[in-house]
Amino acid sequence: MNYWPNTLWPNSPRLQHELNALALISESPPPVVTRVLFSEADLRGRAFVNNLCREAGLALREDAVGNIFARWTGSAPELPAVATGSHIDAIPNAGKFDGVVGVLGALEALRTLRAAGFQPRRSLELVIFTAEEPTRFGLGCLGSRLLGGVLTPERAARLADRDGQTLDDWRARGGCTGPLAAVPLPQQHYAAFVELHIEQGPVLEQENLAIGIVEKIAAPSTLRLQLTGVGGHAGAVLMPGRHDAGLAGAEIALAVESAVTSTGSPDTVGTTGVFRIEPGAVNSVPCRAWLEIDVRDTQTATRDAALAQIESAAAAICARRGVQLELERLNVDPPAICDARLVQTIAGLCHTLGLSHRTMISRAYHDSLFMAQVCPTTMIFIPSYQGYSHRPDEYSSPEQIEAGVRVLAATLATISNA
Ligand SMILES: [Zn+2]
Repeated sequence: MNYWPNTLWPNSPRLQHELNALALISESPPPVVTRVLFSEADLRGRAFVNNLCREAGLALREDAVGNIFARWTGSAPELPAVATGSHIDAIPNAGKFDGVVGVLGALEALRTLRAAGFQPRRSLELVIFTAEEPTRFGLGCLGSRLLGGVLTPERAARLADRDGQTLDDWRARGGCTGPLAAVPLPQQHYAAFVELHIEQGPVLEQENLAIGIVEKIAAPSTLRLQLTGVGGHAGAVLMPGRHDAGLAGAEIALAVESAVTSTGSPDTVGTTGVFRIEPGAVNSVPCRAWLEIDVRDTQTATRDAALAQIESAAAAICARRGVQLELERLNVDPPAICDARLVQTIAGLCHTLGLSHRTMISRAYHDSLFMAQVCPTTMIFIPSYQGYSHRPDEYSSPEQIEAGVRVLAATLATISNA
C-alpha cells in the first residue's frame, strides 16, 4: 500500500471555485443552472471540464454520443480500469450540485491522489456521461444507457426532440461523429464504477450522517401519451358532444396517482410531470394533449403492475371520452443491485476516515444504474440540504463535499491497487 487514506486531503477551495465557475455556465441567470444536452451552455460546460482534465494531466477521449473519458494510466494498463464520474447536464431551473459534484469532485479526488504521490496500478478513468437528464429527448441517461447496452444504437438513432431534430442532428452540432454502434462497452470493461453524487433526498441530513453507500437503485420507467380529441369553440360545443383531450389527460393523471398508491408498497411512486394541451386558448376545447408519466419502484413486480394498471386505465378513459390514444413506453428499466464487495470496501474506508455512514437505496436513478449492467458498481452519497434537488437552492456544504471526495479518493486508490 503506497497511500494512507487519512492523509488524502482534497483542495477544497479549488473545488468550490470550480463548482461555482461551472454553475455560471448556464442558459439561465444565477443562481439557476440550466444546461440541456448540446446547448451552447452544455458545450461550454464540457469545454470547461475538458480543460481542467487536461490541466490535471489526464488523457481525453470522446465517444460518438459525447461521453467523455479522462484517463490516468496506471502501471498495469492492460488490466480493466477503475472508473468514476457523473454528468454535468442540468434540467431547466436546476441547481449546481446534481451530477457536477461527481464530476468535479472525482477530478479533485484524482488530483488529490496525484499530489499525495499515489501510483495507480489499474488505470483510473473519469467518465462524464452525455445527457443524464431526459430534457432533450425524453429519455434519461442517454450516454450511460448506450454504454451499458440497455439502449441499442439503432433505437438511439431514432430519438428526436419535440421539434423533430434527431440525435444525429444534435451530436453533429456537438462535434461528435462516428458510429453509435461503437459506444457500448464490453462486459467487465471496467474493474468497477463508483459514482459520487448528492443524495437528493433528506435521509443523510435527518440522520446527521456524512456518507451514504448505495446498495440498490430503484427501477425507473417512463410512458409518453398522445391524446387526440376534437377541438372546438368553448361556447358553441355543448358538453355532451365533447371529446376533450385535456379532460382525458386530467383523468389519466389521477389514475396514475391511484395506481401507484394502490400497490401496497411505499416505494412505488408515479408522477405526471409533463402535461401539455393544444391549442392552449381559454376559449377553445383542447383537441390534443401530451403526457409524460414517470413510475418507479425498488421492486420490478409492483412497478410493472402499476404500469399495467395505468395503461389499461388510460385506454378505458380515452374509449369512454371518444379520444384517440397513442401510448409509448419510453423506458422500462430494471433496478440495479450494487456490488456487495464494493459497498463493504467503502464502508471500511469511511470507518478508517472517521466518517459516519450508512447503506441506502437510491430512489432517483443515475448513470450508475446502467453502468451496473457492465461492471461492479456502487454510489457514494453526500447529504443534500432539506433533500432539495432539481431546484436552484439545492445545496451541500463544502465540508460535506470534501468528505465525499475523501471517500472517493480512498476508494479509487484501494480498488486500483486491489
Ligand atoms: Zn444526477
